[in-house]
Amino acid sequence: MIPYGKQDINQQDIAAVIAVLQSDFLTQGPQVPLFEAALMQHTGAEHAVVCNSATSALHLACLALELGTGDWLWTTPITFVASANCGLYCGAQVDLVDIDPATYNLCPKALEQKLIIAKAQNKLPKVVVPVHLCGQSCDMVAIHALSLQYGFKIIEDAAHAIGGEYQGKPIGGGDYSDITIFSFHPVKIVTTAEGGAALTNQQALADKMALLRSHGITRDKALMGPVAGFDMDGQGDWYYQQVALGFNYRMTELQAALGVSQMQRLTQFVVERRRLALRYNQLLADLPLTLPVQLGQTNSAWHLYVVGLQLEEGGFFQKKQLSKKLVFSQLRTLGIGVHVHYIPVHTQPYYQAMGFTVGDYPVAESYYQQALSLPLFHGMTDVQQDEVVAALHDVLVDHELESSVRRTGI
Ligand SMILES: *Cc1c(COP(=O)(O)O)cnc(C)c1O
Repeated sequence: MIPYGKQDINQQDIAAVIAVLQSDFLTQGPQVPLFEAALMQHTGAEHAVVCNSATSALHLACLALELGTGDWLWTTPITFVASANCGLYCGAQVDLVDIDPATYNLCPKALEQKLIIAKAQNKLPKVVVPVHLCGQSCDMVAIHALSLQYGFKIIEDAAHAIGGEYQGKPIGGGDYSDITIFSFHPVKIVTTAEGGAALTNQQALADKMALLRSHGITRDKALMGPVAGFDMDGQGDWYYQQVALGFNYRMTELQAALGVSQMQRLTQFVVERRRLALRYNQLLADLPLTLPVQLGQTNSAWHLYVVGLQLEEGGFFQKKQLSKKLVFSQLRTLGIGVHVHYIPVHTQPYYQAMGFTVGDYPVAESYYQQALSLPLFHGMTDVQQDEVVAALHDVLVDHELESSVRRTGI
């Protein structure tokens, strides 16, 4: 099976992890700050807080922005559930904004319309989480302008987008947001097995996220206070205080060393993904597929290559009586690890129970009906990519699974 995504680990990565295993520190050593420095250097952000997943990074980001009970967090329905769940972790309520039909990212026009209504109802969001789907930046200029007008904070969910650019600058620099988060899960662009990061240009937010990453415990005298009836003068260098309710969201040294090593190949990873994406664009041009639309001011990191099946009334798929379910299963039978990103958040039973209903986000729902992610990863060969394209031809045009089964010998 050609997978839809896959990590690329080389000898240098392996040596970096082994060196940590032979060192004194498996956690809380020098590698975590080194990885944070590499992320700051790449993005230009002033602070980076790495943690054990992007989900944790989203939670820390929401807490740092003081999201809580009675507040609203808004995000897009076309994302991984973690982009929305972080609001619920904080006791806030979640609402969703429909997507742009061309880029599939959160639509600034839909956002503005919803803000106008929310203002009238006194239900404006405290935090909005735009997600850079597939690695292409959202329209951050428009979303940022709305944040100034309506007074919300912005967390960029850039889980797909490390190495991508917006207006010629790396995603994560924070020109249009308060905090940006990355994921280092193995299917993402850079991996630490599990891992995430939160980047910001605001010292206070970075300090708060770092504190909450590790139990809310500090050794910083400036953050400590007196404890009534407790001999403060008698406390030596062992002393620490818990000043907030934090978590253990720390990244290990093994993970950070892998991250430092992987970051050295970030440019290479993204350049190769772009090459493969452009090659798909050429090879798929004559098939009845909607190819990814790229906007001028963006340079995608190409975490995903999503095509749209043209399922409209009287269209190709209807005439051939082809459904997405059938196309998906036939491609899988042919060894092509296609996938679907994402099942709209509001259709999940957990969100349905909160009052969302199917039909709430028509653009997202129609995207979901059509969307199919094709294999794309660093290390994918042109031969493998040609196999994906040939299988699509077999399933869509020739509509002869038999012939391709003979051809591939599966
Ligand atoms: C993968 C992903 C996450 C969560 O990342 P983890 O590191 O697995 O916690 C969050 N948001 C989006 C859009 C993702 O794709």
